[in-house]
Amino acid sequence: MKDSIKEQINELKKENNAVILAHYYVSGDIQDIADYVGDSFYLSKIATQTDADVIVMCGVEFMGESAKLLNKDKIVLLPDTNADCPMAHMCDADKIKAVRDTYDDVAVVCYINSTAELKSLSDVCVTSANAKKVVENLPNKNIYFIPDENLGRYISKQIPDKHFIFNDGFCPIHKDLTINDLRATKQAHPEALVLAHPECTEEILENADYIGSTSEIIKYAKASSSKSFIIATETGVFHKLQADNPDKTFYPVSDKQECPGMKLITPEKVIEVLKNKSNQVILDEEFSNLANKPLEKMLSLSSKNTVKTDYVIVGCGVSGLYTALNLPDDSDIIMISKDAFDHSDSFLAQGGICVLTDDDDYDSYYEDTMKAGHYENNPESVDIMIRSSRELINDLINYDVNFQTKSGELVYTKEGGHSKPRILFHEDITGEEITSKLLAAVKKKSNVKMLEYVTMTDLVTYGNKCLGIIAKTSDNEILEILAKDTILASGGIGGLYKHSTNFPHLTGDALELSKKYNVELEHLDYVQIHPTTLYSDKPGRRFLISESVRGEGAILLDKNGERFVNELLPRDILTQKIREQMEKDGTDYVMLSMAPIPKETILKHFPHIYHHCLENGYDVTKEPIPVVPAQHYFMGGIKVDSNSHTSMDNLYAVGETACNGVHGKNRLASNSLLESMVFAKRAALHMQKNAERN
Ligand SMILES: Cc1cc2nc3c(=O)[nH]c(=O)nc-3n(C[C@H](O)[C@H](O)[C@H](O)COP(=O)(O)OP(=O)(O)OC[C@H]3O[C@@H](n4cnc5c(N)ncnc54)[C@H](O)[C@@H]3O)c2cc1C
Repeated sequence: MKDSIKEQINELKKENNAVILAHYYVSGDIQDIADYVGDSFYLSKIATQTDADVIVMCGVEFMGESAKLLNKDKIVLLPDTNADCPMAHMCDADKIKAVRDTYDDVAVVCYINSTAELKSLSDVCVTSANAKKVVENLPNKNIYFIPDENLGRYISKQIPDKHFIFNDGFCPIHKDLTINDLRATKQAHPEALVLAHPECTEEILENADYIGSTSEIIKYAKASSSKSFIIATETGVFHKLQADNPDKTFYPVSDKQECPGMKLITPEKVIEVLKNKSNQVILDEEFSNLANKPLEKMLSLSSKNTVKTDYVIVGCGVSGLYTALNLPDDSDIIMISKDAFDHSDSFLAQGGICVLTDDDDYDSYYEDTMKAGHYENNPESVDIMIRSSRELINDLINYDVNFQTKSGELVYTKEGGHSKPRILFHEDITGEEITSKLLAAVKKKSNVKMLEYVTMTDLVTYGNKCLGIIAKTSDNEILEILAKDTILASGGIGGLYKHSTNFPHLTGDALELSKKYNVELEHLDYVQIHPTTLYSDKPGRRFLISESVRGEGAILLDKNGERFVNELLPRDILTQKIREQMEKDGTDYVMLSMAPIPKETILKHFPHIYHHCLENGYDVTKEPIPVVPAQHYFMGGIKVDSNSHTSMDNLYAVGETACNGVHGKNRLASNSLLESMVFAKRAALHMQKNAERN
């Protein structure tokens, strides 16, 4: 090609902020001027990543359409609109409808070499390079593979557990390569290895030494120690093969291996479209939305790695960790956490954890829980939680959790809504003490794989059965984790609020997905607001001033320094009273005074609250602090039974994301850590029982 043509193209590219993409089947001079050369899969990926405003697609029409589908806002130019692929049209809406009507559980899998219309009628697209991976990752049993029969048959042999239905489409170039031609070429070059594209007929493929997409053939030839090859695909690929391997020889199977459509593209036509912005690919918006989905699904499924395990646990707070600790040591467990392992609300719990102090306390504890919950609690769940509490605490102590003791005896404190002291604590960081010890215990287990910064983005379901989850790593890698049982332990919803005591990444993801798959939810409007968080006008998580501060005697004051409420009222009522007072006073907060608490108690029982307030300019031993209600806890959630099982088979939910009815309309202080772990253990035992039964 003349240098002047190259220069002109470079100038026009700069002027238009354009990028030139070329398929391996176009002529060598076009491949030389292209910014990216590749097969359909590579080009579709590049099309999603480019910053250019204009894409010149040097290939056939369907390639231009795919680029446009993936880049609605960019201009896509085709150097020649007559460059077409006959196979792209070899199926139609009627055929697809007939198959969909015949099979219930069918996925229409469309080879990317097809029109945008065919794509719009399909469930997912594939290329020859990714077809196996994508189809394997589909949950459907029946696969209608369109339009190419040869590729469909080739893929079907590698996935025998799926049932394939074929369409009678074909690529004329690959179909015309006959076994007699191949035998003759092989006879002439007996030492040459046969590398074939899966669009070839079964006979050719059976006689090939290697079968792969164009890019795979190129890779294979480069890595092979063989010096000569017979190439059973379009001859455009010889340009790259020869450039990569000057010392190797490549033979075509016959002289009929040229795609006429691909060879219509010339450098002059590239200049023409760049100059005039002519031959733009225009797609109807509604239609392109439909056709885009299968392409995007292809990109997501093809970058997906599938792992299989016995249990997958979504969340590494107390509920997830305690589930893992109660599952058998000979089972494989994967745990994921959206953020760092120590960034869970469980680490933030300050006040403590309730326990039945002795049998005589049962009625009082039960009544306090029911009363706080406005008697909307599930009595069975409350009973289970209270009766299991002592065993749980003993278990935590066995995991080296240190609760406050005096003369060797556990010390109990009291919080709002409790008529007796029955809360165990560790300074004012009870959650950190418990969760860090459980985390250390899980990390020691060789059967548990823990993944940090991995986010569940979807469930894998089959009818009303959960087969696992889809998750995304921090490197945007897609993981499909298939498991016998899936446990959602993904915490609360505080991240959805402007003011919350929760970590901002806790955004109710499991609830959203449950809604998508019709898993039953309950009491979505039962949200607890904590009455006392340190006031701040900055965005972000609000710092909690624990209920036990009020339990130890702290008082709430209005703008005149007058006490205006009983500080130990249940949280919802106290919140209401504080809000009324703020409105009356015209303030954004009320004041909390710790003056009634001895300084030694503050420093010993609440050292972290003391230091946090000091860092924010308040010495709580000397002055009151401004406090304001903020979102704190979610009583509603994914509806579960007393074994934490949801309405979907093999799907469990534990901790704050679940709703077993323990808390009713309003949670009694310090009941949630206890409830999370009691019902996590029940989930673990139930899953084991089911596994033994099956
Ligand atoms: C400031 C504060 C103080 C508290 N004090 C007390 C107290 O004194 N006593 C008490 O009983 N309760 C208290 N609570 C409530 C209690 O801490 C929580 O209800 C309980 O810890 C919830 O545990 P969990 O395991 O359900 O969730 P969390 O501990 O919040 O853990 C959720 C986990 O799920 C992960 N996750 C979320 N979404 C995804 C996703 N899409 N993919 C992957 N992972 C995901 C998170 O990364 C995290 O690992 C307090 C809460 C707060 C915020």
